[in-house]
Amino acid sequence: MMDPNADMAGRHWDAVVIGAGPAGALAAREIARRGRSVLLVEKARFPRWKVCGACLGVAGVETLQRVGLGGLLGRIGARPVVRTRLVWRGRSVLVPMRGMVAVSRGALDAALVLAAREAGAHFVDQTHARVFGDGSVVVDDQTVPARSVVLAGGIRSAGRDGEAGAAVSKDAWIGLGVVAPLTGAGSLPDDELTMLVGRRGYLGRVVTEDGMANWAAAVDPAFVRSCGSPGEAMRAICDEAGLGVTAPGTGWVGTPALTRSTPAQRGRLYRVGDAAGYVEPITGEGMSWAMLGAAALAPVLDRALASDRHAGAWARTHAGLFRWRRARCRVVSRGLRSPLAMHAAMAALGAGRPARAAVVGRLIGGHA
Ligand SMILES: Cc1cc2nc3c(=O)[nH]c(=O)nc-3n(C[C@H](O)[C@H](O)[C@H](O)COP(=O)(O)OP(=O)(O)OC[C@H]3O[C@@H](n4cnc5c(N)ncnc54)[C@H](O)[C@@H]3O)c2cc1C
Repeated sequence: MMDPNADMAGRHWDAVVIGAGPAGALAAREIARRGRSVLLVEKARFPRWKVCGACLGVAGVETLQRVGLGGLLGRIGARPVVRTRLVWRGRSVLVPMRGMVAVSRGALDAALVLAAREAGAHFVDQTHARVFGDGSVVVDDQTVPARSVVLAGGIRSAGRDGEAGAAVSKDAWIGLGVVAPLTGAGSLPDDELTMLVGRRGYLGRVVTEDGMANWAAAVDPAFVRSCGSPGEAMRAICDEAGLGVTAPGTGWVGTPALTRSTPAQRGRLYRVGDAAGYVEPITGEGMSWAMLGAAALAPVLDRALASDRHAGAWARTHAGLFRWRRARCRVVSRGLRSPLAMHAAMAALGAGRPARAAVVGRLIGGHA
């Protein structure tokens, strides 16, 4: 997908965007749509898979509609998720969902990059970019002249040691993910998100548009070590949930600790998506936040470029957008770790009250 005409070092870019996940690709598109010159740099070869639950929540779907990309999910065949099956200690409740879709990260991220290119952004993949303290960007050993830098490099570029104001939560769990053929998962329906909750982690499974089962988990890293391998840990969570479903035993890919924070702006360095911080629950939120952030960043950056003043407007906008969303996610992730809260939630949902199911559906990223 590399753009052969990018001529990285030969231009003075209005914005260099690092990372072509949902945050970077959509930010590049939105900035380019405002007539700015944009270079989008991605280290992986595209299209690429990444660890993710592959459920895009209502907020993400609505953001795409708002920026004129409402047809994108249909074109790539994203599948509606019609219910969440929450499984805990042998009990299972169904939460009706509306508005959430399951989509593979290979297809979604490639479609967003294509949209960025159609808006005029230049794209190079298989290319590593580095940002230095003074805001200069080096791409494949070349210094690239840039008036602003958007760091959208995902979770690994947030909360770095020694970075001012950055923090990784002490009890943060890690992520695990794998994609597997449908065989062996038991007789789970294809149109649901199955969430298996254990004491030391939780595991979700959906079927994406390519007919594959996408598994993703948040788990205590000490538990994975004590089980001997990610596959054993995942199978232990399945056994504890007691639905008779078996997760794949091999092929799991891990992430660093999930919950972390980093200031969203330092002068003309702007952060968006996971690069600006992430809170653990794994369904329906991260990609939506990445897209919401990208759509909100573009007008702020455009104004800063027009006045040549990068005075902190993005830090304020970002805090306003995400403060309560992060707080809500912290509540959900603590609830999933608490037997008392899980017991209460399962009892409330099991009583068959639609209003309660609606609240839980919203908390996990879809209208119920
Ligand atoms: C286990 C797990 C399950 C999840 N489930 C869901 C879910 O169901 N729904 C949901 O909405 N969210 C989910 N998330 C969160 C979601 O995956 C992220 O929030 C989302 O991918 C963030 O998008 P992003 O664009 O910020 O970063 P990413 O998608 O991580 O993209 C960053 C990109 O930057 C590139 N990059 C990094 N450094 C460089 C560099 N130096 N130079 C060039 N390129 C670079 C990377 O290769 C990558 O392609 C889950 C996360 C985990 C860990």
